[in-house]
Amino acid sequence: MRELVVLGSASQVPTRHRNHNGYLLRWDDEVILFDPGEGTQRQMLLAGLAVSPLKRICITHFHGDHSLGLPGILQRVSLDRVPHPVTVHFPAGGQEFYDRLRHATSYWDHAEIVPSPVGAGFSVETSAGRLTALPLWHSIETYGYRLTEPDSRRMLPDRLAQFGISGPAVGELQRTGRLGDVTLEQVSTVRPGQRFAFVMDTGLCDNVFALAEGVDLLVIESTFLAEDAVMAAQVGHLTAGQAAAVARESGVGTLVLTHFSQRYQDAGRFLDEARKEFDGPIVIAQDLMRVPMPPRRVAG
Ligand SMILES: [Zn+2]
Ligand SMILES: [Zn+2]
Repeated sequence: MRELVVLGSASQVPTRHRNHNGYLLRWDDEVILFDPGEGTQRQMLLAGLAVSPLKRICITHFHGDHSLGLPGILQRVSLDRVPHPVTVHFPAGGQEFYDRLRHATSYWDHAEIVPSPVGAGFSVETSAGRLTALPLWHSIETYGYRLTEPDSRRMLPDRLAQFGISGPAVGELQRTGRLGDVTLEQVSTVRPGQRFAFVMDTGLCDNVFALAEGVDLLVIESTFLAEDAVMAAQVGHLTAGQAAAVARESGVGTLVLTHFSQRYQDAGRFLDEARKEFDGPIVIAQDLMRVPMPPRRVAG
């Protein structure tokens, strides 16, 4: 199952209806928690999510609304004796903050937590595909993340039958790409890999587009509305219109806007401004909302 669970969607300060940030991506067996802000542990409880399937945690930057929930989550991972290692990715320049959060209070360390600082050229293989990160434009060192599943091939049963290929011969054909005169291309079709990007706290810069390029699902900050665009640019944030324009220019499938400033009462205004720039599916994040990964693109 592939889905995004929104655990929090507020920037800077939580509101009555929005917790600080927190986003859980379920991608089959690869379960990744992005930017756990304060209260993430309880939001997971309310969303019906356990920490035990968690494989990794990705921190974009060490502002409190994106990272103050890390100590609670790590302690819960330990309390629940999660049997596999949990990797934590974070900006390398924030090692000092990571170290403090990792050991914020006293507790019994029963889990294997693997720190994995992110720097230039960061790239790791996961069971969901390649996880990469690129620096963004914000007041402190910040990285956006991207998950890229490789394309694969889907075997076509009717073609296999046509060529009389069955049983172990199918596996051999998949491994070697050829069986006698029959090639893999003749009996299979491309199964396009899916892609996901997570872009928080940044002014508009080239790497926002690089991260978003052709993704099926883009989660992107949309702190401000156009009336505050000048301030947004000064402090390293996006408006809803800018975020939506990124989605349009990058060929994004589904756009998820989040990280809303508490200064606006009506979240519908984010949708109105985004709709002017992007005509694909737009989701205005709400806490505890589940966003399914869109259907796989068709090859060709
Ligand atoms: Zn923030
Ligand atoms: Zn920030």
